Amino acid sequence: MMSKKRIGIFGSTGSIGRQALEVIAAHPDKFEVEVLTAQQNADLLIEQAIQFKPNAVVIGDESKYTAVKDVLFDKGIKVFAGPAAMVEVAAWDSIDLMLAAIVGFAGLAPTLSALEQGTPVALANKETLVVAGDIVMATARRKGVPIIPVDSEHSAIFQCLTGEPARVEKVILTASGGPFLGKKTNYLINVKKDHALQHPNWSMGAKISIDSATLMNKGLEMIEAKWLFGLAAEQIEVVIHPQSIIHSMVQFTDGSMKAQMGLPDMKLPIQYAMGYPDRLSNDFPRFSFKNYPSLTFEQPDTKTFRNLAIAIEVLKKGGNAACVMNAANEEVVNAFLKNRIGFLQMTEVIEETLAKIPFMEKPTLQHYYEADSAAREHAAELIHSLI
Ligand code: NAD
Ligand code: MG
Repeated sequence: MMSKKRIGIFGSTGSIGRQALEVIAAHPDKFEVEVLTAQQNADLLIEQAIQFKPNAVVIGDESKYTAVKDVLFDKGIKVFAGPAAMVEVAAWDSIDLMLAAIVGFAGLAPTLSALEQGTPVALANKETLVVAGDIVMATARRKGVPIIPVDSEHSAIFQCLTGEPARVEKVILTASGGPFLGKKTNYLINVKKDHALQHPNWSMGAKISIDSATLMNKGLEMIEAKWLFGLAAEQIEVVIHPQSIIHSMVQFTDGSMKAQMGLPDMKLPIQYAMGYPDRLSNDFPRFSFKNYPSLTFEQPDTKTFRNLAIAIEVLKKGGNAACVMNAANEEVVNAFLKNRIGFLQMTEVIEETLAKIPFMEKPTLQHYYEADSAAREHAAELIHSLI
């Protein structure tokens, strides 16, 4: 009998983390939980730990340590707190696969820690590659471990490339267009958080939902694709596909294209990444052409959704530009979620931050950390001046 894969879920209380636990619950013969981590939600972390009996949990917010420990200690589950503990536990060799499901820049350090230890990573946390893709990919290569994408578009491309010896001419990332597809600037100027959070096809965490509404998510995904698949900027295209059935496509050097499709359900790419190289069965709902008489495609409106145009420039520029853009974006999305700035002001702050922070061609990890801090500080000042 094959031994079970021991999974460390970093960000287990989030949208991806919770769905990963559903996948694990459906395959108790394949997976067991070694580590769970959360930032704030101690109650859910405790509930998950009682159900899945990990070896250890980490709560990011140190003020919640005692509350978590008081419940889990008697159950034989180790409890740690704080960001340093998260990085340390990520390096445990008892983890067979790390699911990187933390949102934002905060996911970088634990993910690098797991890779340095030689642990394969199922990567949902796209910001890790946006910020420091060169360093992250080089670490994985040096350690000889795979980074298996969880993001649905990249999972689609990965699945199209599995077993495929041919060279890639280009990849085409599909985008739903988000809740404001077809809208223009005069409409967007007034949209509020509640509306922006309503994604037509996917139910996701708050940050990625706003990124989907601004199309920044697709920009981040272009940069993610560059690093995962070793592509040049010109080899990465975006097409709007509102039904989210084709999850992405690869075109080979003979012009032939492969697409991966299915219902929009993140449990599919999560399960694929966790099961890889095996494809596990499940009883999730199946796609039927009867329910989808037409699949449609259109070009993205980068004049209205300027975040995508900015991200394409940043993708071409390289260096620390994507790190700076990501930091500014994290700040503006937070501010928008607190109703502190408007939808279109998010773009202005990102643009101004990019213009302000010095460009660096070949940053070290330390440089990325410095660029992240400087960009956040500058973006925060700009946000403050707008209020
Ligand atoms: P979420 O906000 O629902 O969950 C985030 C998780 O990260 C939570 O468990 C939270 O406790 C933890 N976390 C937050 N801040 C932290 C910090 N500073 N330090 C440590 N942990 C922290 O987010 P999500 O929607 O699950 O997305 C997670 C990642 O997956 C993001 O990078 C997102 O872009 C990517 N992703 C998500 C989806 C989706 O459908 N939700 C799809 C594709 C990619
Ligand atoms: Mg995606």
